[in-house]
Amino acid sequence: MKIDLRSDTVTRPTAAMRDAMMAAPLGDDVWGDDPTVNAFQATLAERAGKEAALLFPSGTQSNLVALMAHCERGDEYIVGQNAHTYRYEGGGAAVLGSIQPQPIENAPDGSLPLDKIAAAVKADDFHFARTRLLALENTIGGKVLPAEYVQQATALAREHGLATHLDGARLFNAAVATDTSLKQLCQPFDSVSLCFSKGLGTPMGSALVGSQALIDRARRWRKVVGGGMRQAGLIAAACQHALDHHVADLAHDHRRAARLAEGLAAFSAIEVTSQATNMVFVRIDPAHVAPLAKWLKANGVLIELLYATRMVVHRDISDDDIEQVLTIVQRYFDQA
Ligand SMILES: *Cc1c(COP(=O)(O)O)cnc(C)c1O
Repeated sequence: MKIDLRSDTVTRPTAAMRDAMMAAPLGDDVWGDDPTVNAFQATLAERAGKEAALLFPSGTQSNLVALMAHCERGDEYIVGQNAHTYRYEGGGAAVLGSIQPQPIENAPDGSLPLDKIAAAVKADDFHFARTRLLALENTIGGKVLPAEYVQQATALAREHGLATHLDGARLFNAAVATDTSLKQLCQPFDSVSLCFSKGLGTPMGSALVGSQALIDRARRWRKVVGGGMRQAGLIAAACQHALDHHVADLAHDHRRAARLAEGLAAFSAIEVTSQATNMVFVRIDPAHVAPLAKWLKANGVLIELLYATRMVVHRDISDDDIEQVLTIVQRYFDQA
């Protein structure tokens, strides 16, 4: 039995979710005929306080298509160095959208400093790409962007005539952690991308929400990049089930991540560098990194060492699993 802390993407659909998928009435969504997709999109748009929503197979595609719906060839978007839409999507906006990123350094809390945003906006001059869009991410590295900062950054963008996009892959974590409605968190932005295949536990599926005009443009680009899906109600049913039954459970993930951080902080060779929502980042004494990772793996615990030493708690991790991880780490240091 593995305890997989590499990511919240590893969650498996529950039996009830599979039943909901199997029972869903289906049609061809490229023709607009899938009743389950249409109902899900209407429900989600309403819940997010936007005019329309559009289902995507992945968050990467939802973000890419949002950028393409906001920006034209030769436009640019202002984005964080650490943002998923810049760093972890294969350069898709540039490669497929002919959109230039203007990355700026994220502050430690994940925000983009307002003076740096203002300085990055280009004058209207044919030497420059046209600055069109500000893209933020919430949560980022597990951290919730401060609400006041979001208001200020999006107001600044509007002053400069920029549109605003939020990569809200884990916005439901932010909503639960701060007891704020999805609508309030989406309100400052022209478009928001939401993932259902992370902590919400669907096998796939993301959605973009925004104005009807923006979603109409997005539907066109989604087809162009190959994201027009046929009987997509199978996916929409999973997303609807997650929306109805899994959102509140994120609070358990947050509580368990805090317990994991507290337990790990007791080891002198481990420094917990950040814990927020469902994520724990640690710095391990370099002498112990490789042997500890090997020990964990041999004991059925998987962690992510690729980008940072990160552990992500999700709905397939129980209270017992957290205690077991701490026991396994304790046994490592007992014999080290
Ligand atoms: C996971 C993730 C996405 C989208 O990822 P997909 O794997 O393509 O669904 C986008 N942004 C952030 C911050 C993410 O964590």
